[in-house]
This record gives sequence, C-alpha cells and structure tokens, in this order.
Amino acid sequence: MKIAPSIRAFTAITCLSIFVSCEQDQVEEETVPVPVNEAPIMLDQSFDVLESARPFEVVGAIEARDPEGEDLLFSLETDVDLLVNPVTGVITNKGTTIFDYETATVLSIQVSARDKKGATTRATITFNVVDVEDGPLTNYQKSFVDEYIYLTYKLSPTASGGSLSEKWRQPIKLYMDGDLPDNFLQTVEGYLNEFRALMQEGTTIELVNSQQESNVHAVLGPTGAIANLWPDMFALINNQGFGGYALYNSDGDFSIFNGRIWLGSTDEGLFKHELGHIIGLGHTSDAYCEDQVTSVMCSGAADEFNLFDREIIKILYDPNTPVGLNQIEMRELVTQLLINGEVSI
Ligand SMILES: [Zn+2]
Repeated sequence: MKIAPSIRAFTAITCLSIFVSCEQDQVEEETVPVPVNEAPIMLDQSFDVLESARPFEVVGAIEARDPEGEDLLFSLETDVDLLVNPVTGVITNKGTTIFDYETATVLSIQVSARDKKGATTRATITFNVVDVEDGPLTNYQKSFVDEYIYLTYKLSPTASGGSLSEKWRQPIKLYMDGDLPDNFLQTVEGYLNEFRALMQEGTTIELVNSQQESNVHAVLGPTGAIANLWPDMFALINNQGFGGYALYNSDGDFSIFNGRIWLGSTDEGLFKHELGHIIGLGHTSDAYCEDQVTSVMCSGAADEFNLFDREIIKILYDPNTPVGLNQIEMRELVTQLLINGEVSI
C-alpha cells in the first residue's frame, strides 16, 4: 500500500515531463523556420520608341515588383548610352539618341532589379524603333555630312575660308624651307604619299627644290624664322603659342593657287594638319576633338587620318565634286554620294 502513491507520483511527474517536452517541440517548429526572401518579379518587356526621341526623353519604364513589397533598385546591365533611374526604373535617352531606324529597327538591353536583401532578377528590354521620315541616311552618315560641311567650309571659329567650295585644280609644288633635319624630306614624302592616295583629281603634290618653283612654301623653325619673310603671318602668330600656321589664296574661280606654312616642329600630326589647311580644310568640330584628338584637323592634331578625314579629302578631290557650291548644294551632293553607296560611311 505504501508503494502505490509513490508510483502515482512518479507517473505524474513523468507525464508532466512529457508534456513539457511536447510543448518545447511545438515551440521549436514555430520559431525555427528559415525566412525566405523571394527575388523580385520582372519579366522581359518591350517598348516602342520613335527614332526621333529627343535627348533625355523617356523611352520606357521597367515594370517589376518585389513579393515582400520592398523597394527595388534598378540597374542597366548593358553598356549602352541610356539612363535607367535606379528608383523608378524609368529609361531615358542620354545627350544623344541611340535610336536610329536606318541603323537598327530593334535594340535589346539587359536590366536588373535588386531588393534590399540582394536578391536580383534580370530581364531583357526590347525597343522597337519606329521609323520617322528623316531621310534615308543613318545618323552616322548624317554626322559625316555635317562634318564634311564643317571642315570644308571652315566653319570652326578658329579657321576661315571662302563661302563657296574651293580646292586645288593644279599640281601642288611644295618647297620645304628652314632648318630641316637629316632625312626629313624623305619623311615628308611619306606624309605626301598619304595625301596623294586620297586626292583623286590628278592633283599631284610634289616636292620642289626652290621657292621659285613652288606654289606652297613651308618654313620649319622658330616663329622668328618668318619674321622678315612673312611679316603678316608673323604678326598673327608671334607670342600666340601656335605650333604651326597656314595661309592660302584662292582665285575667282574657287581654285586655291598658293599657300604658306610655318611649322614650329617636325611633328607628323602638325605637318598633316597644316597641309590639310592648304588643301582647303578648316578645323574638325569639337565633338571629335574634345575628349580625345581623333582627327589630323583637330587643333592639337592626331598623327593619322581618321575615316572622316580620309573620306572628306577623297570627296573634296573627286573629279565629280565641283567648286563654287554653297553649303546647301554641297550637302545635297554628299548626301547623294552616300545614298548611291559611293562613299563608305
Ligand atoms: Zn589649324
């Protein structure tokens, strides 16, 4: 009889013990679950955009949402000249539009949406470029036409020339004067060969041995070397920090017939630049010179002709390119050459 209460008591404790144990298990199941963060939901999307869309105009807005309702951070994942607002996902043009129906009718880019916990979803945004009647040329070809006019009509404020097209229509006879280093004439011949390859109108360039035989006189040396020879040019360049200078004359028939060049150094880019002036070129527009010098006709000249330089000289010295044209007429002519595929731009 004495045992029974004791067993009951033990049983009761055991039950209590099991009960507590069960409760702990239940608590663990409720608190331990790993929290799940779902990635943002963003599908591939497409937008129609007019090729005439202006700089900084909105061209699309990314749609995405986060399952947890968190704010998203949008990023552009393709190296392309567009802006994506990181907060709103609104896509805008940059300073220049990349949409040009004549270049590409569709453009696809990658974007990403990231939530605060770092879960990221990527999607493809496709722009369907809508044609606007803006002529048959690509934007790149249009920029070439603009540059042809800018360079050959010398529209840069730092260059000047006639208001109607002009060029050489007789052989250029260049006399290299001044304190010439050994073999410099050979080096110059190499530069001239590059010009000769571009000038198709039988406009030969030859080196001559004296000023009397020449129609282009180049002097290499310090500015003082031309003080007595060309006082008019000396007055323009003295203490102005120029590296070189060129002046030419043309006649009433828009033919350039003589020129004078001062070269402060034997720099390749400088030689090509000043001779470029003599054949009728002004200065390349800042758009191609500010960030990096890419043209021999930039004020600080590149050593090598770029594609625009070469094609501009080729057109100017093509037998079918007349002199005496105004800018509008010349624009039509160069446009037609591009349409006909006679210029590879
Ligand atoms: Zn210049």
